[in-house]
Amino acid sequence: MNESSQNSRRDFLKKSALLGVATSVGSPLFGQIPRATPAATMAGKADLKITDVKVYTPGGGAGAGGGGGGIFVEVMTDAGISGWGQCSGGDGVLMRQFIEGRFKRNIVGENPLAIRKLWDLMYYEHHDLGPSGTLSCALSGVDIALWDLTGRVLNVPIYRLLGGNFRDGSVKAYGSIGTNRWGMTVEECVRRSVEFVEAGFGCVKLRWQIREHYLNPIDDRGLEYVAAVRKAVGDKVVLMVDGNNGYSPQRAISMGLKYYEKYNVTYFEDPTSDQNVEALGMVSAALDHVYIVAGEMCYTKWQINDLIRFGKPDIINPDVCKSCGITEMDRMATIAQLYQIQMQPHSTMQTIGTAAALQLLAALPNPAEFLECTSMDMGPNSLYRFFHNKIRLEKGVFYLPEGPGLGLEPNADLIRRS
Ligand SMILES: [Mg+2]
Repeated sequence: MNESSQNSRRDFLKKSALLGVATSVGSPLFGQIPRATPAATMAGKADLKITDVKVYTPGGGAGAGGGGGGIFVEVMTDAGISGWGQCSGGDGVLMRQFIEGRFKRNIVGENPLAIRKLWDLMYYEHHDLGPSGTLSCALSGVDIALWDLTGRVLNVPIYRLLGGNFRDGSVKAYGSIGTNRWGMTVEECVRRSVEFVEAGFGCVKLRWQIREHYLNPIDDRGLEYVAAVRKAVGDKVVLMVDGNNGYSPQRAISMGLKYYEKYNVTYFEDPTSDQNVEALGMVSAALDHVYIVAGEMCYTKWQINDLIRFGKPDIINPDVCKSCGITEMDRMATIAQLYQIQMQPHSTMQTIGTAAALQLLAALPNPAEFLECTSMDMGPNSLYRFFHNKIRLEKGVFYLPEGPGLGLEPNADLIRRS
């Protein structure tokens, strides 16, 4: 955000507060977004109370990244202000059961601004049902909604609540392409890679989606795909490969060297199982010239601490919609900072998930260079059809939303009806 836009926004807020009437706050990028009056929100914050928590699954709720559905959480208050969050996890039914059936009893009647206290209540009272997977994905949705709500009440973006911005308001994106264990044809993989590059992206990641149950596939076509994509996009584009946990340490070292030496693949993500941090440590020790990325299946600060100590990745990539929300992601970033390791969030949830990752990244001293982008489609078939505004993505760069909270305005009526 540049200084002049900050000044104009400040002036606008000052005038709105003086007028004391219902107003609209929004950056010029997103148009005018209806908001509660600053006077009403400030007066209400001391005794604000949560009245209900709802889960919606518009579009089917599959948690898909691009089109398809989403799993959204609304935390409601007695002041009529709501905060919105998003869960990953791919199962809207489970998320609803966990959030409306469990977390709701922890937080209804509480002040939503007490985010860390509420996080503790939700996490520790259900630790025996987790701590990974369903618990952490459900908690992510509620935690993001609480940060959004607090931002709306105080009329500031979340990155301000987190202590301000290290970034200038923009984050480079990388295009992320899942090949479904090479079920996608080479031609389609090349076409999608070129599509990202022609749109201005400077980095593309190819995901093999092997997983542990196809360990060291004998029909491994990774080199063929990397060769074709490198030839099509040229030498300047940064290439990443995601092994999706499907290699033994020895095979990962062998493949990582080939990717790097033949095609200058400088990032190798999840080369080995996420369940064995020492295996990752063997790969990290062997591949000196490649960034080893891991952590998208670390759901808590304890797991990320073990990953860093024994797996020795260069970059961690937990996901704000999976890893217990902004609160825990911020703690993970601090742990990474102790080891001078960077965070590059895994991010496959369009709309709220992306906005939450951008808000967090803006406030971190140790962000990596890129944020994941699985789809450039923000049209009528994308999740943005449930929102009044969009995150700006231009020439491969995300721009931080500037409105209060997440900076995204859900079409609440549409989502509630879905
Ligand atoms: Mg990955």
